[in-house]
Amino acid sequence: MRRVSTEDLRERVRRIPGIERLLPALDGLPPVYLVGGAVRDLLLGERSLDIDLAVEGDARSAARELARRLDGDVVGHDRFGTATVHAPDLRVDLAMTRKERYPRPGALPEVEPATLAEDLARRDFSINAMAIALHGDELGHLHDPFGGVRDLTAGIVRVLHERSFVDDPTRLLRALRYETRLGFQLDPETERLAREAAARSLLRLVSGPRVRDELLPLLEEIELIPRALRRMRELGIDRSLHPALTADPQLAADAALAANVVGASRRLSALAALLARDPEGAREWLDELALRAPERDAVERAARRGRQLATLLGIGELRPSQIYELLAPEPPEALAVALALGAPQRAIADYVNRLRHVRLEISGRDLVAAGVPESPLIGQALRAVLRMKLDGRVSGRDEELAAALAEVRLAEEAAGRGGDAK
Ligand code: ATP
Repeated sequence: MRRVSTEDLRERVRRIPGIERLLPALDGLPPVYLVGGAVRDLLLGERSLDIDLAVEGDARSAARELARRLDGDVVGHDRFGTATVHAPDLRVDLAMTRKERYPRPGALPEVEPATLAEDLARRDFSINAMAIALHGDELGHLHDPFGGVRDLTAGIVRVLHERSFVDDPTRLLRALRYETRLGFQLDPETERLAREAAARSLLRLVSGPRVRDELLPLLEEIELIPRALRRMRELGIDRSLHPALTADPQLAADAALAANVVGASRRLSALAALLARDPEGAREWLDELALRAPERDAVERAARRGRQLATLLGIGELRPSQIYELLAPEPPEALAVALALGAPQRAIADYVNRLRHVRLEISGRDLVAAGVPESPLIGQALRAVLRMKLDGRVSGRDEELAAALAEVRLAEEAAGRGGDAK
């Protein structure tokens, strides 16, 4: 990346979609700066989707005024003094420039208004601690107090001070994200600090949802998973999250790849792969992440059942109905993990492409119409006929009905014999 002049940056800023409406609307407001990933992306010559603004002053009033000028609304704000302005074709996040104090490792920081310089000093890495002024004649002026451009050029992820990972251990996961997504490397001192923080298991002090929000994005992009997890293991970050986790890069990448084949969620399948060595041990940790209940259950089941399914499906030639019975109760993520653990592809592909779509042409109503009294026997008979159909032993409505009635008769006879014996 070559050095970028203010003139050059001004031009790049002017190419941000929607900026032609935003810049005039900032007139007369307190000093406003583009910050965070948008600055990084702009310097790297990439398009940035987010417009994150830092306001040196009252961000909420600025947001209200901006919304008024842009014919938009202010949506939400939090204890960090942030607000989002939604205007037609434009979404802008505003936050007051602030400094932070961490009452204890892993806790949320206490914040107070501060200068831009102090706001940049509270950030995670030098490549994220830059700002571009958007106001008046300052437009395009880069603030880069920690050598962000130098590190962007060299491909380096560097913390700003030696307590950084202690203050906020989620930065360990963020470091993995920038290393892998940008193809960068931790600088040696940052890596030493990361290993040290991981060895002290500081991530255990962070709330589950904050871990989740930094971990799941790492597991979303298939091509990034192997490197992210290799580094996670090298630095001891997996164990730092929980001793029962194992970052097996190949397994997680295979599970994410298999997720595409079976229609499962990539990140949930990769997460289940992290837990698959010791699902019981990691159950509590999984609960703490506070995923939505169906997602949590899918991960838990995939981690627990994936290996069993791989073993059972690998035993030998199974009938289609046996494959169906094994796989039908499982979430797709369990199939993904099973595939990653070596389950026969043919059986799972057959289930996904064919068996799971097989339906009977008859229903319980047809049995009732044929004189069968309503009882659980009807469900049992239909399930038995579905198995026959899966195995190719019945086909067409008439055969299905005859087979179902035969099943009901058999069951009634068995029940009758049971009754006689009493
Ligand atoms: P992405 O392109 O992944 O969205 P981003 O850099 O915009 O990258 P965000 O998570 O949106 O990432 O964070 C925005 C900015 O807020 C970061 O660039 C960084 O300056 C700051 N930041 C976010 N999380 C932390 C943190 N845990 N500690 C310090 N600074 C942080």
